Amino acid sequence: MRSLIDLHCHSTVSDGVLTPTEIVNLAAEKGIRVLALTDHDDVDGLATARAVAEKQGMQFIDGVEISVTWRRRTLHIIGLKIDPEHPPLVNGLANIRSGRHTRAVGMAKALEKIGIHGALEGAYEYSKGSIISRTHFARYLIEKGYAKDTKAVFKHYLVKGKPGYFEHQWASLEDAMAWIIGSGGVAVIAHPGRYELGRVTMLELMHEFRSLGGLAIEVVTGSHSVDQYQEFAKMAKQFDLAASMGSDFHGKGQTYIEMGRLPSLPENCLPVWHDWPEVKNIELEAH
Ligand code: AMP
Ligand code: MN
Ligand code: MN
Ligand code: MN
Repeated sequence: MRSLIDLHCHSTVSDGVLTPTEIVNLAAEKGIRVLALTDHDDVDGLATARAVAEKQGMQFIDGVEISVTWRRRTLHIIGLKIDPEHPPLVNGLANIRSGRHTRAVGMAKALEKIGIHGALEGAYEYSKGSIISRTHFARYLIEKGYAKDTKAVFKHYLVKGKPGYFEHQWASLEDAMAWIIGSGGVAVIAHPGRYELGRVTMLELMHEFRSLGGLAIEVVTGSHSVDQYQEFAKMAKQFDLAASMGSDFHGKGQTYIEMGRLPSLPENCLPVWHDWPEVKNIELEAH
């Protein structure tokens, strides 16, 4: 069964290629009934997206995907049903965004060292005034012919051990969770299958996340394999966590999956939306 709920996607406010208006319209076209916009470290698109969703007769959920450093690794924590005006959240996200510029300068310097020039300006050209991210550097490297597509560029550049990587300190897990939960939102671990943690570390993360008030993990998401749907459905159950799902869509041809193509959660999952009044009586599956 195809799912009609999507709780993870990106617009031009972060590293997506569609504006908030365009992404909501596309979701509507694909039959999505419930949509969360979850831009990296920024909530700027939510008001516009909500207004467009209302016009489309869709249910809209305020979201954000926060960059976190946990034990020297980068994790992404999603906040759903957040209050985008909650001051600690607003200030915390502003701090993360200012750190992104310093990091971008470091990345560009690292690329200079291997003879790739103009990356800072090139990446900013793609970010068009929104947050600056590795995705924008990736687009510049592809434009200049250093890699053929997004997948290839992240294999050879911009990741730990490869040129263009620059170590950066994001928010702490504690802070990110406190901003989300303090704003009335629900904290979700994004794409746990992507972190390449060992088994023990993964279990420790789940435990710590749970004890900080985390409620759910993404089980079905664009970058998980079908096997990982089962693996993380089991893990959610083991830690008494609910399950979330979302495409992590960034634009056509940009990421792992297009919008409106994800299967429903495995049977044994408790959906993160099980007690959300917004979603009650909405048909969330299509054949
Ligand atoms: P940043 O937050 O600046 O570190 O950029 C991270 C973003 O880069 C992610 O949100 C993805 O959009 C993109 N990204 C990272 N790794 C990959 C990958 N292996 N394949 C495709 N996109 C990736
Ligand atoms: Mn992204
Ligand atoms: Mn992510
Ligand atoms: Mn994402």
